[in-house]
Amino acid sequence: MNFTFTPEQQELQQRVRTLAQEQIAPMAAAVDETNQVSPELMRILAEAGLLRYTVPEEYGGVGIRVIDLCIIREELAQVCGQADTNFIMQGLGSFPITLGGTEEQKQKYLPPIASGQAIAAFALTEPHAGSDVVSMKTAAIREGDEWVLNGSKKFISQAGDATTYTVFAKTDPDAGSRGISAFIVEQGTPGFDDSKRMDLMAPHPIGEPVFTDCRIPYTSIIGEPGQGIRLALGTLNTFRTTVAAAAIGMAQAAYDATISFAKERTMSGQALSEYQSTQFKLADMAVSLEAARLLCYKAAWLKDSGQENVIKEASYAKLFATEAASRIINEAVQIHGGAGLEKGSRVEQLYREVRALTIYEGTSEIQRQTIARQLLRE
Ligand SMILES: Cc1cc2nc3c(=O)[nH]c(=O)nc-3n(C[C@H](O)[C@H](O)[C@H](O)COP(=O)(O)OP(=O)(O)OC[C@H]3O[C@@H](n4cnc5c(N)ncnc54)[C@H](O)[C@@H]3O)c2cc1C
Repeated sequence: MNFTFTPEQQELQQRVRTLAQEQIAPMAAAVDETNQVSPELMRILAEAGLLRYTVPEEYGGVGIRVIDLCIIREELAQVCGQADTNFIMQGLGSFPITLGGTEEQKQKYLPPIASGQAIAAFALTEPHAGSDVVSMKTAAIREGDEWVLNGSKKFISQAGDATTYTVFAKTDPDAGSRGISAFIVEQGTPGFDDSKRMDLMAPHPIGEPVFTDCRIPYTSIIGEPGQGIRLALGTLNTFRTTVAAAAIGMAQAAYDATISFAKERTMSGQALSEYQSTQFKLADMAVSLEAARLLCYKAAWLKDSGQENVIKEASYAKLFATEAASRIINEAVQIHGGAGLEKGSRVEQLYREVRALTIYEGTSEIQRQTIARQLLRE
């Protein structure tokens, strides 16, 4: 494994860092307390060309490389949770089309996602089907040259603002995981209501879209009937490592804030950072951060190097980094004392924000299950 970024990767990191600090940081506190996509933030991400990293070169992108996605997420998440979500959802929401779409679908849907004219969403989870996706109830029934969709989804990032949804639904209820298919549904399609938004402890652009006799053309299916789970897992297996990078970004922000605070805060005539108990905490935080980074970029590098199966390594990275980030941010709040609980303090916000990361794109328990299955297969 190469432990240094290439000159291009270093340039990307520097470019995103500057953009995040100069243009995104001033609006971060406000947008991170809303559950809607900020058009201004999307414009900044689009104009900087970042959304192009989520789409292949032939369709207006610069190509999808997991290391690049991780570099961008780590920098954005340090400054603004919503910027991180907006960025990565363009990739997650469109990747089923990249993986299994027809040439016509790719030409139509991917360039606007790369340019930010379209906003993407990935609609898999349902009120009664999260980890156990196969128990989903949303159904798509073929009627002539149309599909008719009925059902509801939950926890769909960017729902309400997205214009292009990849939606997973059962086309053969008796065929288990082989009975699920993926579709493209455009916002505004009659019978598709994406107006219901959700309020989470750390506000996130997220909603609960509903399908009521929603008719879409037969050609809206991505790939063949029954390929939905393959497309969903192919997408999640590619993007899972990037959740580790977002966790690292959040933990880095908390760590930096804590180092500054510990140096400035005095008690009994001594800086907090001079107490050995604080130093030990800071050392543990730094080691966890470094270990998380190594697991994350190793998994990304393996994927970009063409290794076919990086399921185990991606789960190592996601599991370790998201749990480490939760611990680091918890410790950051502790070191801040009461100041860490005050609304508007950066560590208070990160404490709420990081909580979702051990849950979405496969909970920690599901990561452990995945890792164990891979180990026992070897
Ligand atoms: C901020 C946020 C954004 C999201 N964005 C999206 C999105 O864009 N698109 C989308 O489709 N979904 C999205 N989700 C949904 C997310 O993927 C699910 O919340 C997640 O998969 C868990 O499903 P669940 O919430 O139904 O929990 P459940 O699956 O009901 O899990 C409940 C508990 O049971 C545990 N559990 C489940 N199965 C097992 C098992 N076999 N063994 C042991 N324990 C188990 C879980 O680990 C968890 O602790 C998002 C969620 C959040 C919080």
